Amino acid sequence: MLNTPHIAVIGAGLAGLSCATQLEQLGMRVSIFDKSRGTGGRMSTRRGDNWQADHGAQYFTARDPLFVQELARWQQAGVADLWQTTIAVLGDGSPHRNDGNTLRYVGVPRMSSPARWLANELSVSTSARVTALIRHQHRWRLRFDESMPERELIKNTDYDAVVLALPSAQAAELSRTHAPGLTAQCEASAMRPCWAAMMHFSTPVALPFDAAFVNAGPLRWIARDNSKPGRPGSETWVLHANTDWSTQHLEDSADDVIRALTEAFAVLGGPVPDNAGAHRWRYAEPVAGAKADNFLWDANLKLGVCGDWLNAGRVEGAWLSGRALARTLTSVE
Ligand SMILES: Cc1cc2nc3c(=O)[nH]c(=O)nc-3n(C[C@H](O)[C@H](O)[C@H](O)COP(=O)(O)OP(=O)(O)OC[C@H]3O[C@@H](n4cnc5c(N)ncnc54)[C@H](O)[C@@H]3O)c2cc1C
Repeated sequence: MLNTPHIAVIGAGLAGLSCATQLEQLGMRVSIFDKSRGTGGRMSTRRGDNWQADHGAQYFTARDPLFVQELARWQQAGVADLWQTTIAVLGDGSPHRNDGNTLRYVGVPRMSSPARWLANELSVSTSARVTALIRHQHRWRLRFDESMPERELIKNTDYDAVVLALPSAQAAELSRTHAPGLTAQCEASAMRPCWAAMMHFSTPVALPFDAAFVNAGPLRWIARDNSKPGRPGSETWVLHANTDWSTQHLEDSADDVIRALTEAFAVLGGPVPDNAGAHRWRYAEPVAGAKADNFLWDANLKLGVCGDWLNAGRVEGAWLSGRALARTLTSVE
């Protein structure tokens, strides 16, 4: 194993996990670090007493043959399934339309499940926020948030290459000292926020659909989370505010956001929840679509960047971006 290149992947969202899986399959040794307590990044699920809600990605589609194959592996492992639902469209004149032929998939029993499943095969350290990259004898060392004492054990490890599998602003922050060109490309790709509310009800909500694209008011999406396959019966709805509203209310308190989104839900016929929470996704989705290359790679520094924002901002795009970077990285090792 002595000569096996050791790669650090920062970010255990789907792009990082896809990259790491591919790197290991191609013979590399990989260590993954994520600041959160779990894996999955924006494919994530909040859990409470007797309820759960996917408050980031709502579903995903699979069009590229490589991702279709990966989805088949997830389905075989029981961590993803088809969400057979009818999606309504509320309000008019706007960007969100429903395509009746689209097949929509979800993680099972929760959106974070495919990521957890991928992570089981990998070496992942969670609650590990990387604060800086350090050049050390032509290799890389990582600096961690020092409030995490166990990081002492890993901070003197040398890595042959580093992959930043992060939203653009966070990738820019970590690449800045070493790779201004790469940083500039990250900074050129702004990402927009999204406020999400999770609402729990003791009785079923009497709306004649399980999900809707909303084209009026502060909301853009509402969904009955427990209508997805494998969820517990308890009635839970997820509400996403649209980009403009989320941007204008970015610094509002969670309580104010819950109040405003409860009112917006009432306008659509929704009742007042028994309890609710809110989550601010500061970097929810990229402004621009897919780039020519769906990853960035500095071959001299052996520093790469992948993530959904380099590939149209969706679950499938994130997975493909991570995989493509891994294949380029190994082809030049
Ligand atoms: C509200 C919302 C709704 C969405 N709806 C859909 C949808 O319906 N369909 C769809 O396909 N996609 C949807 N998406 C997009 C989808 O979630 C993303 O495209 C995909 O999950 C991104 O994966 P990623 O690995 O690129 O990034 P992320 O999932 O963001 O992963 C990045 C990881 O890096 C970690 N990290 C950040 N900084 C550091 C650091 N300094 N040190 C260590 N770790 C760090 C984070 O904790 C995170 O786990 C939605 C996203 C949001 C937020």
